[in-house]
Amino acid sequence: MCRQFTASSGRVDGDRVADPCYEMGMSSLTEADIEARTQAVIDDVGIDARDVDFRSALWDAGLAFVQYPEGKGGLGVAPALQVAVERTIRDAGRSFHPLGVNVIGIGMGLPTVLTYGSDEHHEKHLKRIFTGEDIWCQMFSEPTHGSDVAGLMSRAVRDGDEWVVNGQKVWTSGAHVSRYGMLLVRTDPDVPKHRGLSYFILDMQSPGVEIRPLYQITGDAEFNEVFFTDVRIPHANLLGDVGDGWRVATTTLMNERVALGGSTLPRGAGNIAQLVDLWEKRRDSLAPAAAALMRDRVTQLWAEAEVGRLTTMRARAAAASGNPGPEGSTGKLASAELNQRIWNACMDLMGADATMHEPGYSLERHEGSGSRADYTLSKQFLRAQANTIEGGTSDIMRNILGERVLGLPGDVRVDKGIPWRDIPT
Ligand SMILES: Cc1cc2nc3c(=O)[nH]c(=O)nc-3n(C[C@H](O)[C@H](O)[C@H](O)COP(=O)(O)OP(=O)(O)OC[C@H]3O[C@@H](n4cnc5c(N)ncnc54)[C@H](O)[C@@H]3O)c2cc1C
Repeated sequence: MCRQFTASSGRVDGDRVADPCYEMGMSSLTEADIEARTQAVIDDVGIDARDVDFRSALWDAGLAFVQYPEGKGGLGVAPALQVAVERTIRDAGRSFHPLGVNVIGIGMGLPTVLTYGSDEHHEKHLKRIFTGEDIWCQMFSEPTHGSDVAGLMSRAVRDGDEWVVNGQKVWTSGAHVSRYGMLLVRTDPDVPKHRGLSYFILDMQSPGVEIRPLYQITGDAEFNEVFFTDVRIPHANLLGDVGDGWRVATTTLMNERVALGGSTLPRGAGNIAQLVDLWEKRRDSLAPAAAALMRDRVTQLWAEAEVGRLTTMRARAAAASGNPGPEGSTGKLASAELNQRIWNACMDLMGADATMHEPGYSLERHEGSGSRADYTLSKQFLRAQANTIEGGTSDIMRNILGERVLGLPGDVRVDKGIPWRDIPT
């Protein structure tokens, strides 16, 4: 039986299990209790333990995401308490980001499988996603359907206990290192586009899956084209019901926007720290008038970064439980545009040096899950150009916020109510 854990009520539809956070949870736990439990994990495995061991211990102790149900990586307490976990780990001297080893898997796959997966899916996947033992990718976008993902063309046709998939995805980040993929395909072309989709967990090692790299302006190839030729997926890998894929995909997308949008790093950390550092190094080389203008710009960006950080923390504290709603697009929109302004300021501070690529610039492919820790400032600037496209463009974020948060009139939709098969492509 598939369970749906909803954002607003915190209840589980389908078999109507009551709120897994608050009814099963240890709601009396305090921040000090969470710190003590985190410290106990650190003492047990050691602060320098391998990622997989450290994360495995956090999962078992319910400290992966404290708002998750007990036995499933959490303690069933308010998500605001998660900051105590991250702070305790950082204070002990370990660099830690909860999504670090598997951004798409943990940020999007984990909440989607938790929400729609069966107990078997939970047992098989949840912990291994968090530990990074299984990297996951997201296969929604297609060559002709990015923003309009609901109009996608890849098809799945049922054959007994299996589905046979043919088609193509594009921009699939990390497909080349992924064990599993979140796959959205069309299973019924005769109904309007949103109603004919289904959502599967795809084993990326299945016969008929072909992955080809796509190189970006950075010279790296984080993402791929993925082709499906008669790929067979067991019916048991379906998340949600047949034809219910859009609802499941919405959960993935809302979590994606929060994963991409929110930072709870300490004050002044992250890319704003790199800008401030560069400013300190270069300020004396600027003419007085240029230095005064740049000082104002750096100060303004620092303030905006701090506003973003505090807003994320407040949103986390206010969230009761469950999955985020359309308001998650606020952080995604704001942080994507702020990132670009911060890297633009870095390039302006570097002057002509910014036009030089580091020695050895080449088309290369990371074998890991895509860490950008070793990127130079110029590469960070180039990479940031994608921030306002990936995870939904800024135009689409504005549409969502306008329509679903502010209640403004909707975008013009000429394909509304028309069977997908009859929509001109
Ligand atoms: C670095 C990176 C990583 C990515 N990783 C993944 C991934 O792992 N998995 C995955 O599935 N996809 C991934 N994507 C794809 C991404 O989701 C799409 O690129 C994005 O949704 C936009 O789609 P598109 O490129 O087809 O542009 P289009 O949809 O063709 O849009 C073109 C332009 O038209 C505008 N536009 C389109 N529709 C509207 C509208 N209704 N109102 C106003 N303006 C509109 C857009 O804002 C944009 O400016 C990634 C993209 C990037 C850049």
